[in-house]
Amino acid sequence: MIEKRINELIEIINKASIEYYTNDNPTITDQEYDDYYHELEKLERENPSLVREDSPTKRVGGKIIDEFKKVTHEVPMMSLGDIFSIEEVIEFDQKVKKTIKNPKYVCELKIDGLSVSLLYENGKLVRGATRGNGVVGEDITHNVETIKSIPLTIKEKKTIEVRGEIYMPKKSFNLLNEARKNNNEQLFANPRNAAAGSVRQLDSSVAAKRNLSTFIYHLPKPDDFNIKSHYETLNFMKKLGFVVNSNIKKANSITEVVDYINEWTEKRESLPYEIDGIVIKVDDFSDQKKLGYTSRTPKWAIAYKFPAIEVLTKIKNIEFCVGRTGKITPRADLDPVHLAGSIIKSVTLHNEDYIKEKDIMINDTIVLHKAGDVIPEVVRVEKKRRTGNEIPFKMISNCPICGSKLERKENESNYFCINPNCDARNIERLIHFSSRDTMNIEGFGENIVEDFYNIGYLKEIPDYYNLYKYKEELKELEGFGEKSINNLLENIEKSKENSLENLLFALGIRYIGKKTAKILAINYQNIDNLMNASYEELTEIQDIGEIIADSVYKFFNKEENIELINKLKELGLNMQYKGNQKIDENFNKKTFVLTGTLSKLTRDEATLEIENRGGKVTTSVTKKTNYVIVGENPGSKYEKAIKLNIEIWNEEQLLEKL
Ligand code: NAD
Repeated sequence: MIEKRINELIEIINKASIEYYTNDNPTITDQEYDDYYHELEKLERENPSLVREDSPTKRVGGKIIDEFKKVTHEVPMMSLGDIFSIEEVIEFDQKVKKTIKNPKYVCELKIDGLSVSLLYENGKLVRGATRGNGVVGEDITHNVETIKSIPLTIKEKKTIEVRGEIYMPKKSFNLLNEARKNNNEQLFANPRNAAAGSVRQLDSSVAAKRNLSTFIYHLPKPDDFNIKSHYETLNFMKKLGFVVNSNIKKANSITEVVDYINEWTEKRESLPYEIDGIVIKVDDFSDQKKLGYTSRTPKWAIAYKFPAIEVLTKIKNIEFCVGRTGKITPRADLDPVHLAGSIIKSVTLHNEDYIKEKDIMINDTIVLHKAGDVIPEVVRVEKKRRTGNEIPFKMISNCPICGSKLERKENESNYFCINPNCDARNIERLIHFSSRDTMNIEGFGENIVEDFYNIGYLKEIPDYYNLYKYKEELKELEGFGEKSINNLLENIEKSKENSLENLLFALGIRYIGKKTAKILAINYQNIDNLMNASYEELTEIQDIGEIIADSVYKFFNKEENIELINKLKELGLNMQYKGNQKIDENFNKKTFVLTGTLSKLTRDEATLEIENRGGKVTTSVTKKTNYVIVGENPGSKYEKAIKLNIEIWNEEQLLEKL
């Protein structure tokens, strides 16, 4: 069994390596490659007798193409061991400390390109080579000579080899792929492959056009120059005229290393080139010597890799959820994958149109990413990976819970279960009522709501406030006791005091989210005013359009909802807005434009103050603009305001009105 898996993994990894290193055209993601690689490493560690001589864990990099002249590296070009979590960074430090008492580190950005060796004789560049398999690489001198950041001559007139990374800046990568798209050429998967594909061309005019660049970070024979540490080396190479990355940092402890990792995890997007991690190196060369090497990596350095932003996974099935409004949402069950710090088991597919547009089928392999780094989202289907076993998606026509026929309104993408007594809808409505953004009744997880519903204590919203009547019975339920029930009942009681906007959102009125609920609460101050509002009145409120107004008006004019509100009133729930925002006639329903610099408020603050009073801030001056607020050095908006005869306020006037 194990031997079979080892053979299988070797085959997968070798195939992927050829496509990646030799053809510069990866067919699986780096995450998948790393997962296979680590599985193989683990199996080999646990079963030393099964380790094959030709295992990829014993080799660095890829195959050498015959078309290029071969170069044998005097000092082998190694890879780096990789780790994926802060715990492993700490473990690395502990391992180093077994040999070195007080290690100092150098932290560097891990540039996502390909490594290069540059050889100078008498100060003249004579050879550029790829890493290849670590021992033998390819001669790419003709292409290296086209890279502007690589000096053709240096001040040191000796024989000297330096190593670093050739990379393609993000901007060049995007331009290149855009051009390839227009020419119907295959796109490069990432800047690293694009860089590798560019330097491994026989015709140097290709590389010359690709705007490649370099960072140099290694000197294989520092003894020749009497250099004692890595940090010193970097300064030495900078003086020679090489481009050394400016974000390198010396770290006196592993805590400083972790700080550096955290800093760059946040800032990496702002760099004009891709990085895929942080390299941590022991600084002192005598310490490095003591630590030594494994067969493919140094023991004095490690690469911390950033969590993947995109991963591949498979759709095992598509299921349907019923929301509180009765909306049916298809949801894909996935092969669980790690993505940006969590394990993802399912992803929403929104609705039928979305699935059709993305052409999603059961058994498809999909690319997943986290939108805004929080919610997982399908980026695309990997159609190349289809095997013929995919099952086309079919929308259901009946509610998966109550079985009633679903409805799809005209111009809507969503299907709805319209049975008001559908259990799924009822449970979702109750969950929504007690959740954090609405009535915030602490202790009411989804499972508890569902259990209480199924037992019969909690069937509709007012039941929350009658639960105290069943205190003795609730105490006996599995997982509960006197204390937890007391807490729960206390939290329910507390929720009665919430401000009006919480209740409005909690009621589950269609299209009323947190923000709209607040707008309504500020405008009407109490629920009776809102219940008496006409449709026209509602539409006049800033940010309340016809659809929302219609939904609110209909909700409060339905007999059963009026009854519900009356019940909640009797139970003692607060029906007033408790915040201090009021509609201000100076601002309400008026449109403002800001121009120039304000001295006492930032633009965002001024916008918020205006919006809190019912006003709207837009960016361009039109006939519909009511006021233009003018700060120092105003732009053309000021002139336009004068031309259109629009009332102008300076900052003082604005503050006065505020
Ligand atoms: P690596 O990219 O994980 O790390 C080592 C390399 O980092 C060095 O060789 C060097 O080129 C580079 N580097 C960048 N900045 C550096 C710095 N400041 N100091 C030192 N080195 C720096 O290792 P690798 O052997 O080049 O590639 C292996 C990785 O390639 C795998 O982990 C995988 O993610 C990817 N890969 C993917 C596929 C695929 O099919 N998708 C196939 C093979 C490999």
